[in-house]
Amino acid sequence: MCQTTEVGTTWTPRALVVGSGLAGLECALELANAGWRVEVLSPGRAGCDGATHRVHALAPWILLTAPWVRGDSPERFLADLKRRGEGREREGLAEVLATEAHSAARELVENLGLVPLGVPTALPGDEIARGMRCLPNAGRVLLAPLLRKCEEAGVRVCGRSLAVGLLSDGSRVIGTVMIDRTTHVPREGHSDAVVLACGGVGAIFPATTAPRWNRGSGLALGSAAGALLHGPEVTQALPVTATPPLYFPTSAALLSSRIRASDGASVSGSDLGAVTVEIGKALLRGATVFMETMGDDAHWLPPRVRESAAFRAEGRVPLTLALHHGIGGVAIDSWGRTSLPGLYACGEAAGGVQGLRRTMGTGLLEATIFAKRAARAACHDIAGIGPAPSRGEARVPPFPLDPAILEERLDELMGPLVALRPPAAVDFALHEIERWPVRVEARIEEGCALAGIRRLAAMTLLAGEQSRRGGRGNVVGLPGNPPRHKEGA
Ligand SMILES: Cc1cc2nc3c(=O)[nH]c(=O)nc-3n(C[C@H](O)[C@H](O)[C@H](O)COP(=O)(O)OP(=O)(O)OC[C@H]3O[C@@H](n4cnc5c(N)ncnc54)[C@H](O)[C@@H]3O)c2cc1C
Repeated sequence: MCQTTEVGTTWTPRALVVGSGLAGLECALELANAGWRVEVLSPGRAGCDGATHRVHALAPWILLTAPWVRGDSPERFLADLKRRGEGREREGLAEVLATEAHSAARELVENLGLVPLGVPTALPGDEIARGMRCLPNAGRVLLAPLLRKCEEAGVRVCGRSLAVGLLSDGSRVIGTVMIDRTTHVPREGHSDAVVLACGGVGAIFPATTAPRWNRGSGLALGSAAGALLHGPEVTQALPVTATPPLYFPTSAALLSSRIRASDGASVSGSDLGAVTVEIGKALLRGATVFMETMGDDAHWLPPRVRESAAFRAEGRVPLTLALHHGIGGVAIDSWGRTSLPGLYACGEAAGGVQGLRRTMGTGLLEATIFAKRAARAACHDIAGIGPAPSRGEARVPPFPLDPAILEERLDELMGPLVALRPPAAVDFALHEIERWPVRVEARIEEGCALAGIRRLAAMTLLAGEQSRRGGRGNVVGLPGNPPRHKEGA
């Protein structure tokens, strides 16, 4: 895609995509096919370091929830999304998901080589069969086909590259600040568009189903640059096996099993959300929670748990709660535009497609649908805003002192807040995290940058919790400024 400036010279727009999960790679491919020069940044092995790579690892199948059967329709799906959202979704976004879910699901099955297992089934709480269970092609990296297409389209996929901040000229985002994790050298990357496809917030919490890189980079980088956030506190926790690999035994198994707490209380609920809350209450009381399988329920469990000596002797599995999904995130419009020109967000980094409670089996669909829309929006917008200026200022989450100690403290403060967030505990945690000393003029270093991202993401999440409690709505900006110390202070 060659663009022409006002003075008649031609140029090729450049994009930096933060993250190599489904959203990042789909967006990069769409931009490259439209003629952009595209670079994807990813901190680990590209295509393997995000939640997308894990979808089949911690549950027995991949779920794609869409209108599949006769009698269902985007309108019925939308009505169910809105019922669960309770008005906390952003205008127009759930409509896009409901309308595009079916075709996006078919494309995913085709493009990622998924194998559907029979016919769709009704998920707990749904009246209509919408959940298509699929298995990936055995022995292959789930995103391998998409990575290959990106490379063929000329996308530069940079593994071991961590984005630690954004560049801004005051009116527009014009690039990222990043660290090469092999050479440990920080550098600035200039671009005409930046896409935050950096996943969710799971790893702000010590127990999560998500990989460690998913520590709220969208919230942290977005808010450090001044982007609006939508419901950063809206998250989904799931009951999982208490011993690694934190396996999710499926909603059906959890709802049909008997769950008991060690203090004698019975833990039950009509849906997965209610069961999660009851488990959260029991864990806060200090009780241990067990799932007792009945009949052939045990077949939901992974062989490793089912065949363990403890399970065979006692027939029960200890459960805990893990942070699974960030429902809120960087505020976007229905085309993935954030509140800052030049900055787009999609996938789990973006917030507001679903409201208070999300529908299971929609994460991959959201990622692919909004990634393509963000790319199309960037192609549309670039004609109006032209090339990005080459000079700008780094907007980086503040670097904390003693990052390793802060990481441990964040585990302690955020651990109990996975599912239930009592106001006093939220206030206490935010007070302490906000006041953690930070330094200015610091050399950019990986450990500090990672702790800084997690700290700022935790602050935005907790501030969102306070804001919701105070009835101040969905959209929040940056919480209070922390005290700053000179390097070495
Ligand atoms: C165990 C599990 C099971 C799931 N099962 C399903 C399912 O059955 N069906 C379904 O639809 N959804 C499922 N989901 C949800 C779904 O996987 C996610 O919603 C979806 O994959 C999100 O895609 P994404 O591209 O937005 O994020 P991710 O795939 O998480 O990708 C984020 C990328 O950003 C990178 N990144 C993060 N921070 C930075 C940074 N600072 N700099 C550079 N890169 C960064 C990450 O390393 C990664 O490459 C599941 C999730 C989990 C964890």
